[in-house]
Amino acid sequence: MDIENHIFKDLKFLKSPNFNERPDDKEISLVIIHSISLPPKCYGNNYVEDFFLNKLCIDDHSYFKEIQNLKVSSHLYIKRDGELIQFVPFDKRAWHAGKSTYKGIDDCNNFSIGIELEGSDDDCYSDKQYKMLTMAVQKIIDHYPLIDKHSIAGHSDVSPLRKTDPGKKFDWERFLNAL
Ligand SMILES: [Zn+2]
Repeated sequence: MDIENHIFKDLKFLKSPNFNERPDDKEISLVIIHSISLPPKCYGNNYVEDFFLNKLCIDDHSYFKEIQNLKVSSHLYIKRDGELIQFVPFDKRAWHAGKSTYKGIDDCNNFSIGIELEGSDDDCYSDKQYKMLTMAVQKIIDHYPLIDKHSIAGHSDVSPLRKTDPGKKFDWERFLNAL
């Protein structure tokens, strides 16, 4: 599991159109942990992948109408069975955090890597997700010099008025101690 040209080689890569260039003066210096499931709290389907690829079938669930015009992506998505899928190369600016601030600097998408876990605030994450998340973040730390275990935040940390993910069930101590 190595990073080559800002992509985890040998793992699944699905190219999302939802990205742009990072500003020249912004280096990758933050990892943001999220959670997502579509429909909310439903697991084991491919709707999140479809959503990040702008291919969500709006008629499949009433909730999808609420999000049909959103254009979002994350660099990585880790499913409950531990599968990791990458959607955007790390050197590109994925659209995951929205309005956000970290240590006084706005627009975290400019300088962060976004990792989505398949889940919700109400459910514990799986052992396989912690294992894959730890491996992926360790590789990112090894590859990008400005990232260490102190430069990892939850979406709720950078967008506290809007977002609660990854939620109280995410075990930060377990994750950070494993790095
Ligand atoms: Zn989020």
